[in-house]
Amino acid sequence: MTPLADYAAQEQYSLGRRYPEDAPKYRNEFQRDRDRIIHSAAFRRLEYKTQVFVNHEGDMFRTRLTHSIEVAQISRSIARILHLNEDLVETIALAHDLGHTPFGHAGQDALNACMKEYGGFEHNLQSLRVVDELEDRYADFPGLNLTYESREGILKHCSPLKAKELGDVGLRFLNKQQPGLEAQVVNLADEIAYNNHDVDDGLRAGLISFEQLRDVRLFDEQYHHVKTAYPELAERRMIHEIIRRMINVLVIDLIDQTEQCLDNVRPETIQDIRQQSSPMVGFSAPVREMSLELKQFLRNHLYRHYRVHRMTNKASRIINALFDAFINDIGLLPPDHQETSRDYELEQGDSGRARAVADYIAGMTDRFAITEYERVFNPVELT
Ligand code: MG
Repeated sequence: MTPLADYAAQEQYSLGRRYPEDAPKYRNEFQRDRDRIIHSAAFRRLEYKTQVFVNHEGDMFRTRLTHSIEVAQISRSIARILHLNEDLVETIALAHDLGHTPFGHAGQDALNACMKEYGGFEHNLQSLRVVDELEDRYADFPGLNLTYESREGILKHCSPLKAKELGDVGLRFLNKQQPGLEAQVVNLADEIAYNNHDVDDGLRAGLISFEQLRDVRLFDEQYHHVKTAYPELAERRMIHEIIRRMINVLVIDLIDQTEQCLDNVRPETIQDIRQQSSPMVGFSAPVREMSLELKQFLRNHLYRHYRVHRMTNKASRIINALFDAFINDIGLLPPDHQETSRDYELEQGDSGRARAVADYIAGMTDRFAITEYERVFNPVELT
């Protein structure tokens, strides 16, 4: 690891863990956080949760696991150049999607609608809930007992109402402050990763075309560079060459722009970063605009494509049906979830029962949700 900047997250100034622990012997605190995430059940389940395409549509598409690894790679590259904490960005990147429901955003929207009267459902808050409460692996504490800095990075956004319930980690949403630079880096690395890999996956699935993408400036500029240098290049290689260059353009611009911002503000500690009124990690204005244009293109042509819509519609119906069945008859849940549900209900009434059902559904992989739907509703399925 390169030497850390004074304003990077440093373990000796960490705001600590919820349950105090002895320092690790041969690792730093953020490495320990990262290792806990890799060993968690929620992390393994990311392999069978999807972003855009449902898991069984093909083995070549991104899953939430490969997405998270790509986010970690991009985050580490950026952190190294900016002298930020590489271990911490890796931790946040690997954990950032742990709370995602099955079936990507369709699943999250469906579950949020089901939970409307019970406090709602938000995947980002759920990621924090996974590491704070739901992982069940350590003798001395619930969850993974991560450092404040990791939890701060995982919680990307939060309504003021929810922020009040979250204690220390929710405060910045009430005080309109920023998280450390590591959290800010991962936030944008996430965007860089999904915008680019969704282009790749969308092309592979035949849902968007090379020709359509020529209307997107970020793509078209790189297309011209590649076409000039390699006029005979086959399309598949051309696509990958363009995408890798797009990622490069975004990463380099982000590093340059952020360095400039750091030069202007001259923060001395992570607290100086937290006290800023707006994030310090960002793209230059023209590149931000190009990145937004790509995002908009994907929304219109990929995420709203009728074939994606059919799949997401089916996914919503599975989630709705499972939620209704479980909330109306807790006896349909596996015994350990029944028990949790009763405990939560004693504490919080109907909202508690609903939260236990939401936790159970959110933890499912795509294929588990489909199988569970069969087990609950298909009269031929007897097991
Ligand atoms: Mg993500």
